[in-house]
Amino acid sequence: MEGSKMMSNEEVLTSKLLHRSLGHAPNVVERAQGAYLYLQDGTKVLDGCGGAAVISVGHSNPEVIKAVSDQLNRVAYIHTGDYTTSVSEELANKLIEKYEGKISKVYFVNSGSEANEAAVKLVTQYFYEQGKTSKVHFISRKQSYHGNCLSGLSLSGHKARRLPYENIISSQFHQVGPAFEYRYKLDVETSDEYVQRLATELENEILEIGPENVAAFFAETVVGATTACVTAPKGYFKAIQKVCNKYDVLLVLDEIMCGSGRTGTFFAWEQEGIVPDITTAGKALGGGYSPLSAVFISPKVIEGLRSGTSSFNNGHTYQSFALSSAAGLAIQRIIERDGLLSNVLEMGAYLEEKLKQEVLPLKIVGDIRGRGLFWGIEFVKDKKTLETFDTSLKVGYKIHDFIWNRGVGVYPGFGTNDGFSGDHILIAPSFDVTKEQIDIIVDAVSKGIADFL
Ligand SMILES: *Cc1c(COP(=O)(O)O)cnc(C)c1O
Repeated sequence: MEGSKMMSNEEVLTSKLLHRSLGHAPNVVERAQGAYLYLQDGTKVLDGCGGAAVISVGHSNPEVIKAVSDQLNRVAYIHTGDYTTSVSEELANKLIEKYEGKISKVYFVNSGSEANEAAVKLVTQYFYEQGKTSKVHFISRKQSYHGNCLSGLSLSGHKARRLPYENIISSQFHQVGPAFEYRYKLDVETSDEYVQRLATELENEILEIGPENVAAFFAETVVGATTACVTAPKGYFKAIQKVCNKYDVLLVLDEIMCGSGRTGTFFAWEQEGIVPDITTAGKALGGGYSPLSAVFISPKVIEGLRSGTSSFNNGHTYQSFALSSAAGLAIQRIIERDGLLSNVLEMGAYLEEKLKQEVLPLKIVGDIRGRGLFWGIEFVKDKKTLETFDTSLKVGYKIHDFIWNRGVGVYPGFGTNDGFSGDHILIAPSFDVTKEQIDIIVDAVSKGIADFL
């Protein structure tokens, strides 16, 4: 095997590769195995967040590697205009066979941003085919993230990520309030009343834009990086779907971070008692082995296409990429065979209990929330008033560093409160995480927060 050259911090910082920051050198990872990353300098880090909630069957899983390399030896690339591969066909069947009548087709692309872009276009074309050409407005929620390409960014309520681009973001994208009880449910309100208020807000927004102009409502079933694992109050998605149906507005759920098994069911919406018109997924679907994201499409939308041009007017060079399909298929087989969704639920319950016992009592921990193996910790200056820290302190990032120094990687974020202020970290280990690994994660998190204090 070819050994890689040791790079000093200075060499990384001044290298030809454009990193996320011109002023900060990322760590060079030499190899990854199971739950651990091994850095060039010998440091071992427990990957407590699977990068951005991507890792689902561990790093360097030999079965996934074999499936991808076998596929590479058979056929890696074909253009989908003329060809398909059995591996992509098989993955499509495997993913949707259990959802007869709810999902009729799936479309594979590479990134989550591409999947949401495809969803925006699919929705637009669905109405276009019916002659409803004015339905080209979209509603999403504040403090949401739907991707970095322009339509995903236009949907996103992540103010900081939008900031430099506000002037090229289309005005056809609108936002309503998030379903975020910890910060936005009034003390005088019950959960049900809060849900009703949010449903009314959506209805009013649709009426204001004009129902004949609104195409879809986009939401993350469990919110990811922007607010850290916020689940909606009970009944929220049912109430929202009712409003959407009333005005012929499609419901699109973005499960790029929370889906593909992360919350204990393949789709997070299975726990909400609804079926959306379109679902997007990514991250854990390809599990870090090959870029894979998907758009799951209901029979209603497919019939809309069929009764029109019968062809989705959106193609990508690398759509249904065979290597990604091979990775996705191997991952689904492992999850099924090893009962990993049950492990997500069991270990998730254990993680919740430990976080609530050991981390929630800490002075600056305001809230702990999540589902399955998807947990967020929000930091506040004052637990009673929920006052946030000064944004310039970058509290989430600093706490992340302290936890990292104790050997565990977590995913930091900011803007939790309103898109700018507010700090959190996200914990999202691989679906095969063990009790011992959770003990190590929670120990490093509570000690890292104490170090910060
Ligand atoms: C990560 C993410 C995206 C974007 O996916 P990329 O693969 O980074 O393009 C979109 N929506 C949500 C909810 C995400 O977490």
